[in-house]
Amino acid sequence: MHTASYFVSKEGGKVHCTLCPHACVVVHGGYGKCRVRKNEDGVMLAESWGAVSGYHMDPIEKKPLYHYYPGSQILSVGSYGCNFRCPWCQNAGISQCGAETGMMRRELLPDEIVHTAASSDSMGVAYTYNEPTVWFEFMMDIARPVKERGMKNVVVTNGFINPAPLDEMLEVSDAFNVDLKSFDDEVYREYAKARLEPVLNTLKTIVAAGKHLEVTFLVVPGVNDDLERFEEMIKWLKAEAGKKVVLHVNRYYPSWKMHAAPTPVKLMRRMKSIAGAHLPHVYLGNVPGEA
Ligand code: SF4
Repeated sequence: MHTASYFVSKEGGKVHCTLCPHACVVVHGGYGKCRVRKNEDGVMLAESWGAVSGYHMDPIEKKPLYHYYPGSQILSVGSYGCNFRCPWCQNAGISQCGAETGMMRRELLPDEIVHTAASSDSMGVAYTYNEPTVWFEFMMDIARPVKERGMKNVVVTNGFINPAPLDEMLEVSDAFNVDLKSFDDEVYREYAKARLEPVLNTLKTIVAAGKHLEVTFLVVPGVNDDLERFEEMIKWLKAEAGKKVVLHVNRYYPSWKMHAAPTPVKLMRRMKSIAGAHLPHVYLGNVPGEA
């Protein structure tokens, strides 16, 4: 079992996790909101270290990253756990469970993953499928040697991480796809059980560090489909992330606890048109017939 980074031991055997803005204070035997970081006798453990739920060679476009070495393959790895609770999650089978569920998984060592990436036609390693930041220690144990070998690290994340671990991650990361759920803090609080501001700070920090950034926005009917709020978000992205930012506007389909009908295609096209008036690279995802 691996000791976690970014925690402070407190009185009474509690630990205070400082990895993400939830700032969980966890009693002995308990888990943080991500369900993978556990207090064991006043020490925070990274319980999902080495637990791999998904391990595939994927096209880079599947992350999605459309403007980063298009046509390349990338070894993609994921574990379980997440610090969000979005009821429409399409990966709830791995994101919304902890060790106690006995989820199917394999144990791998960082060396094995790095070796597979280096001995294949992979451009590097992508950390994806579940939220990789709650898997921070294992991700970093892979990402450092990947970087040393001159390959690329790609992070697909919700962006809900504190500045210090983000800075550490940025030292070895090359490209990001950040899932922006809404431009309304209330949506973050009600559905994701999180907050908007730390995600916006992450986006600004990635841009300031000069890393490649693409943003995904999943349009969920009745949740984040207000067009005025959407245009506000687009203008913010243009101002803070610059014209280079690539936006993926994705269509929602019912999943996990969310049963509303899929996003109307007409609305998707309207949103693409609004975003396209401000940003040069806007793509629709999960829309039949869309190039
Ligand atoms: S990483 Fe997990 S334990 Fe740490 S603050 Fe976030 S949700 Fe809580």
